[in-house]
Amino acid sequence: MLKIFNTFSLKKEDFEPFDKPDVKIFICGPTLYDYTHLGHARIFLTYDLLCRFLQAKGFKTDVLVNMTDINQNVFNKALEQYTDYRTLTRFYSDQFIKDLKLLNITTITRLAHVSDYVKNIIQHIIFLMKNKNAYSANGNIYFDTKTVNDYGAISKQSRKQLNLHRMDIGPNKKNQEDIMLWNCSEDFGFSWGGDFGDGVPWWHIQDTTVAFENFGTHYDIHGGANELAYPHHEAHFAQYKALTVGENPVKIWMHVGLVLSNGEKMSKSLGNMVLSREIAEKYGQNLLRLYIFSTHYRDKIDYNENDLIDKKSLLEKIYNTINKTSDNTSQVISNLINEFFKSFEDDFDSPKAIEIIDKICTLVLQGESIRLQDFEKIIGVLGLSV
Ligand SMILES: [Zn+2]
Repeated sequence: MLKIFNTFSLKKEDFEPFDKPDVKIFICGPTLYDYTHLGHARIFLTYDLLCRFLQAKGFKTDVLVNMTDINQNVFNKALEQYTDYRTLTRFYSDQFIKDLKLLNITTITRLAHVSDYVKNIIQHIIFLMKNKNAYSANGNIYFDTKTVNDYGAISKQSRKQLNLHRMDIGPNKKNQEDIMLWNCSEDFGFSWGGDFGDGVPWWHIQDTTVAFENFGTHYDIHGGANELAYPHHEAHFAQYKALTVGENPVKIWMHVGLVLSNGEKMSKSLGNMVLSREIAEKYGQNLLRLYIFSTHYRDKIDYNENDLIDKKSLLEKIYNTINKTSDNTSQVISNLINEFFKSFEDDFDSPKAIEIIDKICTLVLQGESIRLQDFEKIIGVLGLSV
């Protein structure tokens, strides 16, 4: 039985999808104004691994990634480059798709641009206003977080703690922690006409609408970086529940740890960004996968090029093992293959799986036997291309 740590319950839970064998996964995607860095790459590699494992176990995965093309940073960059936001975001979504290919990420089935969903977002905001979950304050529309009783459940905050956050600052908000759904108060150079006035849809409702329009009232896993738990996922969850009128729409909140560079979060302003394409082009995606998966997905990684290079010997061993495959798999190796799959069942213990693959290679190179199909099956789960 696969167990996954659910941020919502803070426990490893048995994974039972709503509609077995189908598994619907939503991943918070990139904001389209820059290239993919290693932190982003880790997110998509992790869910690619999850999907490859689930597929090997007979599940059918359907992965939706939302790409944010309506955002303050996007507007600023378009302005800087004397271009319109659509030209800018189409360029970066093409680059994102190119990066996914370079990383051999093949399990994403749906890629969405938020700007294709603005009409739906407006409908959802009207619905939320009708049901008194949302209100207008000086033309901006906010979600009234007091209308859902367990707001704070994902980030484990009490109402008092939540109240300390001054979210989406604007005049006449009911509660400090209320989140903006529609922003009419700034000049972005363009806007959409909502029934409630011109403006642009704000961050959190974008995911909610994209997920709802694709997956309906519920889906199995919501994924993203752990730093997104508050306010982003908290807001998304509250909005989703308000739209589905109280159901529990998401089974598992599965968060991935950050990738640091020189001890700090990668960011453009700190100048410590490592682009995934640079690594993939210089070392190949196989090495990057072995490096990323050698740390548990919930732990942080402090990126160091030497640690990446250290994985070369294992990769060599894997290549050498392919040349040593034979017609049968010995009992010892067969047991290790079972252990390999079992390690994923315990909240995706990929470091253990990597250790086991190392052991398998060592034994095969010392004379134990493994069939090519069996070896391909395990390296296929890791997404190694040979
Ligand atoms: Zn998101």
